[in-house]
Amino acid sequence: MTLRARLTAAFLAVVLGPVLLGALFIGTTVPAIGADRARERLDLAAGSVRAELGARCQRLAAAATSAALLAQDQDLAERPTTADGTGGGRAPARHEPLTALDVGFAATVLLTGPDGTVQASAGAPPPMNWVDCAAPGRGVGTSIAAVVGRRDTAGNDLGAAVAIAPVDEALAQALARISGVSVTVLSSGDSLLSTESRAEANAVRRTASLHEDGTTGSGRYVRRLDAGPGQPLRLALAVDPPANGGLYAVLVTVVITAGLLAMVAAWWMARSTTRPLTELAHAADRVAAGDLGIKVPVRSVDEVGRLATTFNRMTQEMRGYIRALTASRDQLRGYLALLGDTLSGTHDLSRILNVTLHTARAATGAQAGVVLLYDPVSKLLVAQSAIGSLPESDVDLGGLRLKLGEGLLGAIAESGVPERGRFSAVTPLAPHEPRAQTYIAVPFAAPAVTEGEEAARGLLVLYDRVGPEEFDVGDLVTLTTFAGQAAVALDNVRLHEEAQRLSLTDPLTGLFNYRYLRESLRRELERANRFNRTLCVVALDLDHFKHVNDRYGHGAGDAVLAELARRIRGVTREVDFAFRRGGEEFVILLPETDAAGGAALARRLGAAVRRTPVTTRNGPVTVTLSIGVAVYPEHGTTGSAVLEAADMALYAAKAAGRDTCRIAIAPGAARGTQPTRRGSGG
Ligand code: GH3
Ligand code: MG
Ligand code: MG
Repeated sequence: MTLRARLTAAFLAVVLGPVLLGALFIGTTVPAIGADRARERLDLAAGSVRAELGARCQRLAAAATSAALLAQDQDLAERPTTADGTGGGRAPARHEPLTALDVGFAATVLLTGPDGTVQASAGAPPPMNWVDCAAPGRGVGTSIAAVVGRRDTAGNDLGAAVAIAPVDEALAQALARISGVSVTVLSSGDSLLSTESRAEANAVRRTASLHEDGTTGSGRYVRRLDAGPGQPLRLALAVDPPANGGLYAVLVTVVITAGLLAMVAAWWMARSTTRPLTELAHAADRVAAGDLGIKVPVRSVDEVGRLATTFNRMTQEMRGYIRALTASRDQLRGYLALLGDTLSGTHDLSRILNVTLHTARAATGAQAGVVLLYDPVSKLLVAQSAIGSLPESDVDLGGLRLKLGEGLLGAIAESGVPERGRFSAVTPLAPHEPRAQTYIAVPFAAPAVTEGEEAARGLLVLYDRVGPEEFDVGDLVTLTTFAGQAAVALDNVRLHEEAQRLSLTDPLTGLFNYRYLRESLRRELERANRFNRTLCVVALDLDHFKHVNDRYGHGAGDAVLAELARRIRGVTREVDFAFRRGGEEFVILLPETDAAGGAALARRLGAAVRRTPVTTRNGPVTVTLSIGVAVYPEHGTTGSAVLEAADMALYAAKAAGRDTCRIAIAPGAARGTQPTRRGSGG
């Protein structure tokens, strides 16, 4: 059953129930009231009829008494007559006294003797039978009579005086007039005496014969009046039921009209109530199917209208959320793709950390973040990449530097345990540490690449997730993944750097190897050419190194080589490059340096080597260097030409007796090399 049908039914029940109950009440009460009123009328009518008949009997008694007194006065003599009083037709000779009698109301007055014979009569011929007012019994008669006994002075019975009145149509009419009801005489024997029509009178008589109070088939109320003292007749009184025929028609009309109105109202009410609900249900179905563009019409300002307004607002906000979600998903996708590309395509650590941080922020919806790496030199956690800003703090995230164990982030980095939470008054912060609403920080580490090296440590930190919530366990998992990514990147970069270093450097001396010399020479020459600068190439060779090996052993020789590399580093600038070319031969590239500069460095280096013996396990070893200097473009226009020129100068130095330096001779000049001053003096 639909809601609309239920509402309609409920409304109809509420409206029609009382109407029907009221109609039922009126319909049952009104006839009862009518019956009561009819009975009251019959009670009153019975009283009136009794009084009228009593009055008539008294008047008959008065007439009979008058006749008896008259007869006594006349001293009537006994005379023969019939005993049954029917012989009244033959008047005795001594009837004179009754002629003077005013019979009045009575139709006939009789005087009877002790034996019942009629001695005298006046008025109409005496009727055949009558009912005595004083002792009516169940007698049947066409007349009523009052009988007064007559006695002489001695008390002897002289008979009676009887006043008789006919029970006729006129009497019935009179009684009906006085009582206001219709009267039917039951004691008149077979002849029907009634103010009713014949058929109705028969119905009344039937009813009265069965009940003292009753109703005829046509609905008339009937009261039977039995004969009794003062009321000699058996009568039936009848009244019409109160006229309420129109009442039922009115009631039916009212009920039908109310029913129709209720149905219309119920239909309208149910429709107006359920229509917005139906629309809402339909819209909810559409939303469930994924259509968030649906809008429910707001038809009223009531609760249902509010519901529709809220529904529309809800779908609108959901659209906004989905747009934001889609945008953030796309952004995250973009960052993930970028992260993948970056991880696979570069060993640029700061770029990798930057993309990792952006991706982590996009994945968690954080406002700001920073990646810190531990710098073993400064022993500080140093910001490598930062994103966003914090409204509650004016700290520049990109410039953040913290000691291990210092403040919140320093402590997390030191403990190595990820942490998330909300800032409070008791959060331990370093003075220049940022403050926000919430934070999440995950430390990461990359193992040491070479022996004796420290493991690389870092910290990925995000602040203030969008929305009121703090970072949750899911965010911790996500950020741990990204921190792992950062650790792998860090490890890769360090491995790469180490591999790079190993492929370019000589493991014994730590100087660049010959391979890198060729590349560096080409690059530096190109640069010098582009900027129109000079490039000085210095070639070195230890003197009689074979003897060192022979005398002190190969290990001592290695130690000498390593120490020489250190001394080379000691005399060169940061922009200079030193290479171990092979064996005990070295090359130094001095960008933007001329022959004089190169020779000066050669002298400084030669002196540094010569002066201080190298301490080895087998005792101090004194070595010297032979050095050749050539300059681009002066001594050669290609890398190999300049290097060759330097070699030639080196040979010249050897030839000159070693522990000295020679500058190459420019092509086209006299063959040989320019000597430089030897030893500490030059
Ligand atoms: P000169 O003054 O003419 O250069 O004499 P020299 O003995 O230095 O020259 P030579 O080229 O004959 O000998 C080079 C020696 O350097 C041969 C080798 O034993 C030694 N040597 C080369 N590489 C290494 C190395 O890696 N370790 C050690 N200990 N010795 C090396
Ligand atoms: Mg040598
Ligand atoms: Mg050599």
